[in-house]
Amino acid sequence: FNYHMTHFVMSAPDIRHLPTDAGIEVAFAGRSNAGKSSALNTLTNQKGLARTSKTPGRTQLINLFEIEPERRLVDLPGYGYAEVPEEVKLHWQRALGEYLQKRNSLKGLVVMMDIRHPLKDLDQQMIKWAVSVAIPVLILLTKADKLASGARKAQLNQVRKDVLAFTGDIQVEAFSSLKKTGVDKLTEKLDSWFGE
Ligand code: GDP
Repeated sequence: FNYHMTHFVMSAPDIRHLPTDAGIEVAFAGRSNAGKSSALNTLTNQKGLARTSKTPGRTQLINLFEIEPERRLVDLPGYGYAEVPEEVKLHWQRALGEYLQKRNSLKGLVVMMDIRHPLKDLDQQMIKWAVSVAIPVLILLTKADKLASGARKAQLNQVRKDVLAFTGDIQVEAFSSLKKTGVDKLTEKLDSWFGE
């Protein structure tokens, strides 16, 4: 698949407003500021596709992108931003869980985590939801350029060890939008999910 062909389709305020549940979708999730927008822009080679460093706390939307007909990337709202009111957080957590557990076209979940702070509570919740409905997960440890190679490898090994506890189909890779690290691993995984 040519991810450079990806284009914006629509924003949805809730899963009820998503287009018909047909074809194949891969969702991107992560704590806000984890580097999700940057990763989407790197993958698609389009600087402005997903908006980076947006002000969190505003109405958050699910953004849908299409690579080709029936093949979609879904940019889920970033979670975990401290200053969002509790009821808004709870609303989104519920919506994320519902999306992960009910969306038939969802074939894979990419979870972005800052390599220096992986597997926070909500990251673990996302993984549990995905595993509970047998959705495979690719964890990208983002901003890998922030660590020296020894520390990077150690962290990668640690997270690979930690995720064994979830007993799901989970792959963990280092990623850097800055250095273009891990882009090949991401496209390989997406190809395998979309290629069904
Ligand atoms: P999002 O909230 O998950 O969409 O995160 P963004 O993509 O907006 O990135 C959050 C911040 O991290 C921004 O200041 C980015 O410039 C920075 N960032 C994102 N990816 C990388 C990376 O690969 N390396 C470094 N050093 N910084 C990054």
